[in-house]
Amino acid sequence: MEGSVTRFGNNSGGNMPSFVPVQWTQGHFVMPRKYRFPRQAYVRVKRAAHRADVRELCYLLFGKGGTIDRVIQVPNRAVDDVCHHVFGTADFERVRLKMKKLGYKHIGYLHTHPVSEPVPGPGDVAGYAKGALVSIYADRTKELRLFRITKKGKGYVEKQLEFG
Ligand SMILES: [Zn+2]
Repeated sequence: MEGSVTRFGNNSGGNMPSFVPVQWTQGHFVMPRKYRFPRQAYVRVKRAAHRADVRELCYLLFGKGGTIDRVIQVPNRAVDDVCHHVFGTADFERVRLKMKKLGYKHIGYLHTHPVSEPVPGPGDVAGYAKGALVSIYADRTKELRLFRITKKGKGYVEKQLEFG
């Protein structure tokens, strides 16, 4: 199994995702100042995170422009998914191609923090690629926040989210 998944998040040891979206690598992706997040998806994540207890959940964010239109759950491939998460490369590709056919681009990631605050942990900062848009939902506080990984300063900047 080693090598068939891309490890990042708290479990990562710092490996970079191999599937950095095209818009980041081409250097012309303009990050909107504010992102809209579908309220229904927030409710869905909230319920699932509660059910998952101490296990972390993984989602991929897709949209058009500055709006997050689709929030798609993918399996957490971490061997130990208690407070760890790992996105699988094959899962990512499968969902990305399906969404592409519907006209949606990959925007970012979402994972849940069963216990800790909704801010990127050291493993998140180390594991996600520079420029990655990372949303975190904290089960304890019911908060959903959005960050861009920068590798500068604290390693991330917060992005504004509005729900609608
Ligand atoms: Zn995290």
